Amino acid sequence: MRVIFFSTQQYDKTFFNKFNDSYGFDIVYHKSELTLQTVNLAQGSDAVCVFVNDKVTEEVIIQLSALNVKIIALRCAGFNNVDLEAAKRYGLRVCRVPAYSPEAVAEHAVAMLLTLNRKTHKAYNRVREQNFALNGLLGFDIHGKTVGVLGTGNIGRAFCTIMQGFGCRILAFDLVANKEMEAAGVEFLPLIEVLKQSDIISLHCPLTEQTRHVINKDTLELVKPGVTIINTSRGGLIDTAAVIEALKAGKIGALGIDVYEQEEKLFFRDLSDDIITDDTIQRLMSFPNVLVTAHQAFFTAEALSQIAITTLKNIAELAEANNLTQKAALLV
Ligand code: NAD
Repeated sequence: MRVIFFSTQQYDKTFFNKFNDSYGFDIVYHKSELTLQTVNLAQGSDAVCVFVNDKVTEEVIIQLSALNVKIIALRCAGFNNVDLEAAKRYGLRVCRVPAYSPEAVAEHAVAMLLTLNRKTHKAYNRVREQNFALNGLLGFDIHGKTVGVLGTGNIGRAFCTIMQGFGCRILAFDLVANKEMEAAGVEFLPLIEVLKQSDIISLHCPLTEQTRHVINKDTLELVKPGVTIINTSRGGLIDTAAVIEALKAGKIGALGIDVYEQEEKLFFRDLSDDIITDDTIQRLMSFPNVLVTAHQAFFTAEALSQIAITTLKNIAELAEANNLTQKAALLV
């Protein structure tokens, strides 16, 4: 069984090699993203393994099908980058890792919030230059604040639990209210109310046609002045241009983003010697109250182990029995 990896980083090799011993797949790692230009690298393989920024469009799927590839295995949870309808039409199976470590992503969202609020990134640099002044480092107590959570699936739920530990009031919006969470004190409200009442808003819903640009010019009219917005989900949830205007106007107090609409041209690469031509990310990074991390929320040893274990298991099960033990892992 040959599996071709796209968008491979060294850490992918480390974790997949470690857990592949029990499967013995013939894994070929490619650094290139999966695109129409690189799809031929999949020749001779039974499965391709892709990540968040590989564009698995209908055209790519047609080529994969022509190459007799049978399985598209996502080594991530989100799947907005795969044309599932096309995969179905061309008879390819698509699987993902529905939950590997929701805590890893939720904890990173909290890390971004704490950094932005208490400005530890600035303090770190300051004291190294023997500047022990506190001006400009003023934060607020998170205890007692109202936190709005959009999307209360695996990650949103873990985030709510942590924020309850801080002593926050938690408001949530999801398509369906979660009874267990309600019993634990989370208040499910309409989206507008969550946006209006929250001091901190954290995005944890998937990117779909309904959620695209959920943070936009109109919804930013509703939020509290000085609100902190954290996005560890997908860049497309935020209308970046609208957010920049709200930052310029001082409406947004702080913004933490681990994901960005145009991230595929930037993230997971060392561009330190390059000229960045994306003026939007440059503008965002120029705000003192904006923290950008490059899609690293998932990046813990526990999460990478679980991603490798589940992905290899998914591929083995699809190849052998054409079915998956973990139902949520099967997309097509
Ligand atoms: P999940 O499927 O467990 O939960 C998603 C939740 O969003 C569900 O409860 C669903 O009902 C809700 N939802 C769907 N449409 C909605 C809508 N229109 N409005 C409000 N809620 C809606 O997913 P998860 O594991 O919690 O992951 C959430 C997202 O986090 C993923 O889709 C992925 O994009 C992102 N993610 C990011 C990273 C990272 O490293 N930054 C890692 C993993 C996942």
